Amino acid sequence: MLNVAIDGPAGAGKSTVAREVAARHGILYLDTGALYRAIGLFALEKGADTRDEAAIEALLPEIEVSLRFEEGEQHVLLCGRDVSDEIRTPDVSMAASDVSAIPAVREFLLALQRDIASENDCVMDGRDIGTVILPDADIKIFLTASAEERARRRVAQLAEKGIEADYSAIVEDIKRRDENDSTREISPLKPAPDAVVVDSTDMTFEQVVSYISGMIGELV
Ligand code: C5P
Repeated sequence: MLNVAIDGPAGAGKSTVAREVAARHGILYLDTGALYRAIGLFALEKGADTRDEAAIEALLPEIEVSLRFEEGEQHVLLCGRDVSDEIRTPDVSMAASDVSAIPAVREFLLALQRDIASENDCVMDGRDIGTVILPDADIKIFLTASAEERARRRVAQLAEKGIEADYSAIVEDIKRRDENDSTREISPLKPAPDAVVVDSTDMTFEQVVSYISGMIGELV
């Protein structure tokens, strides 16, 4: 199977890039952040403290997370309920970042991610795909950009949807998540030693996509 891992900080454009790369090569796109988001949502709904390791661990036996792909689009099912839209709120983003620092949560989601990669040619994006989930991935990319540029892109994205956003609040949110994700003990956000680091601060979307696409082209 062809496995492409794209890791990097929040807002670096991983998901849009990964989705487009996967579409160009006719392979599956898997957004692993959605899995952590589903667990974050579950914890919020139960009123649990998302930083309380014991409390979250105790919830895991009640949680069933699975993925369904419809016309190439990923849907996340939480105990059979499609939560693909609900998991996109800022509260769930922060809850996902919290629960993802808990080793039992990462362990809980490991097999699901590996199974999908072993059965499908895919582009998988996340934080630890190249380092932990798929250490033997054929291609490993660490996609990054400055926090300010990531915030600008997020503001522009929201503006397109008619949502007015506060730039400074978004920069702060991004920096807080970067800090959370890169300082945790388990699977901290960092490039795999054999990853190609792509800093997209001064690159267009098309340049990033063509670059990764070119790497795949050399392999297949
Ligand atoms: O990518 P996304 O922003 O949707 O991910 C939500 C949160 O889930 C991230 O802030 C990160 O803490 C966590 N995550 C992770 N490992 C992954 C994907 C996401 O820890 N592979």
